[in-house]
Amino acid sequence: MPYADVIIDISHEKLDRPFQYRIPERLLSNLEVGMEVLVPFGKSDKVIRGFVIDITDQCDFDPARIKEIRAIAQGGVTVESNLIRLAGWMHKNYGSTMIQALKTVLPAKHSVGKLTRRMVVRKAGTEELISALGEAARKKQSAKEKLLRELLNNQTLPYEWITSKLGVSAATVRILERAELVSVVTESGYRNPVGQREADGDRKVLSPDQQAIVTQVLTDYDAGRRETYLIHGITGSGKTEVYMALIEQIVARGRQAIFLIPEIALTYQTLVRFYQRFGDRVSLINSSLSAGEKYDQCQRAKNGEIDVIIGPRSALFTPFPRIGLIVMDEEHEGSYKSENTPKYHARETALEVARLHGASVVLGSATPSLESYYRAMKGEYRLFRLRERLTGGNLPKVYTVDLREELKSGNRSIFSRKLQELLEDRLRKGEQSMLFLNRRGYAGFLSCRSCGYVMKCPHCDVSLSEHAGGRMICHYCGYERPKVTVCPQCGSKYISAFRAGTQQIEEKLKERYPQARVLRMDADTTRQKGSYEKILAAFAGGEADVLIGTQMIVKGHDFPGVTLVGIIAADLSLSIGDFRAGERTFQLLTQAAGRAGRGQSPGEVVIQTYQPEHYAVVHASHQDYEAFYQEEILYREMLSYPPVSHMLAVQIFAREEGRGKGLAESLAGTASAFIDGREPVARRMLLMGPAPASIGRINDIFRFVFYLKYANYDTLVNVKDALEERLKEMQPREVSVQFDFDPINTM
Ligand code: ADP
Ligand code: ZN
Ligand code: ZN
Repeated sequence: MPYADVIIDISHEKLDRPFQYRIPERLLSNLEVGMEVLVPFGKSDKVIRGFVIDITDQCDFDPARIKEIRAIAQGGVTVESNLIRLAGWMHKNYGSTMIQALKTVLPAKHSVGKLTRRMVVRKAGTEELISALGEAARKKQSAKEKLLRELLNNQTLPYEWITSKLGVSAATVRILERAELVSVVTESGYRNPVGQREADGDRKVLSPDQQAIVTQVLTDYDAGRRETYLIHGITGSGKTEVYMALIEQIVARGRQAIFLIPEIALTYQTLVRFYQRFGDRVSLINSSLSAGEKYDQCQRAKNGEIDVIIGPRSALFTPFPRIGLIVMDEEHEGSYKSENTPKYHARETALEVARLHGASVVLGSATPSLESYYRAMKGEYRLFRLRERLTGGNLPKVYTVDLREELKSGNRSIFSRKLQELLEDRLRKGEQSMLFLNRRGYAGFLSCRSCGYVMKCPHCDVSLSEHAGGRMICHYCGYERPKVTVCPQCGSKYISAFRAGTQQIEEKLKERYPQARVLRMDADTTRQKGSYEKILAAFAGGEADVLIGTQMIVKGHDFPGVTLVGIIAADLSLSIGDFRAGERTFQLLTQAAGRAGRGQSPGEVVIQTYQPEHYAVVHASHQDYEAFYQEEILYREMLSYPPVSHMLAVQIFAREEGRGKGLAESLAGTASAFIDGREPVARRMLLMGPAPASIGRINDIFRFVFYLKYANYDTLVNVKDALEERLKEMQPREVSVQFDFDPINTM
């Protein structure tokens, strides 16, 4: 006789404990996970509502005392039941407990404060504002100056944007408020945040290419076809305009829309465009909202007060009653994958949300993920291209510099002669430059500075990483060998790990060009809240000649004054021990190159590398995505990496090294039972590892990992289930295990 696990109240506190009920005969065939039911509860058996989160054969109580479900509640599919079904799907497909999955998708119930969307509205006239601006500049009150400058161009500004993105404190806003230059209003008192001026004034006439996309998606939609669409278009090609047109049309059909965007890529301009188009029917969620504020947003969504939500991956769980469209901008971004269990990918999850609601999905990117493009090529997604930049501006001129040649001609500096020449030119002309170090937090790889040779794993074709004790290790399969001191290819002794960091680049730059004003942006300089925005704002305001930084500086932001971009060492992302290294490098180089020449003057880009012939570098220098894709997908095919195959990472964490290693080996043994030796090798499930993780120990926790590759995702889910069963039997102590399907970051 089956039983149902029921949660009584959807709030975090109560979730921890589902209650078990017997399913009566008459309900057996109808009852499903996610359904709302009526159950007797407590001593008095008062009948209340609950949600079924699981159906099992196992009774955890005394079967004689267990109560029975009374009925399935009326009302059909509710918001909650959709979310619970989604949690069930995540639980199954990503490997987490049901409770973990529920906590991910359900809004925390918190005491509800007042509605919190506040706007700063300009009260003073232009003259007055300019004189205040002059005074602030004289007194070097830079925060005040920054805010006043924004207010010159905008009648109103969202409060949350001022304090987070602009990096101006609440205290500064209060000073302006007291001086009667601005007033702060809450949404209830101010329905249309962007003013009556021209609520719809900014609507563009779509280009024929844009219109074709909108027409196709809507025609499908109205004919009842729900599809996934991929828009491949460079930055500035008009994707956002298409998203807005689609969202508007879907909202007009009485449904809601979710606009996903990596938090870091959301610019103020984009936000204003949405506010202008959708007024107070659009809302923004981001990580800086408090739990109470998030809950408010959820309530508004549920009550039908808003139609559109903008936010990072968690915006997918907005409890809208009838979602009609999910848009995912910058769909290639790694931040769409959750790093916490359940390690879900927002793209896959968006497809599931769309399936539950009967919604369409639109993905967009200038450099689509291999996953999406592969599916588009197979005809699973419908592909559209936008090829022209609508605001003019030419593509930059790209120089690829061979660092081996630099060494040969005696230049040991981290700046090639070409980069020096162009930097000096910009400093002379007073134009801005960006220097970009595409470094990631990985252990170093070894490469030859004479011939460019990179030490690779003979089995996995990824770079070997340098480890203590003079060893080099592959983090997929565990292959290891002693560190070489002489290049196996050319015999040079210049074989070493590249160690320059952003700080070192800054020092070298100041040494060489003492007159240059330099800003640096990396994990160190952005630790404080708001410092990221501060640095960007300072650079945009012309307070520096050169901005040095990691990948943070290439996302989203427009600096019309930048005419030179230098990539210090393309190899840094090319040779990390990860099968996505080429894809990431292509994306980063393309994005970085796109930073140059957004304004009137044409831009130039210098890519420094030891591997100028590498296809990711070659195709990025021509901004040729297609050509890159063709080569990259061959590599994935040959070695059965995603998206051609699927991959399950099993990650083991242990306080004691031996215990972790032992468990990793034992679980890998269990997994290998799934490998059918009779299948042809090309289609066989493959086991890689176990190996120590790329960072083998963090906070005294040892980390091991092994990987399984197989064409069929569901089979990998079965393996995961088997491993979970095995873990239940073993009850290993002081170790933990996590699953990561189609991992984005190697561990
Ligand atoms: P993307 O999202 O691809 O970066 P946007 O939609 O932001 O592109 O468009 C880039 C710029 O071109 C914006 O300033 C936008 O206002 C403008 N734009 C977009 N579509 C049109 C159009 N049909 N006519 C004129 N300008 C447009
Ligand atoms: Zn060499
Ligand atoms: Zn290997």
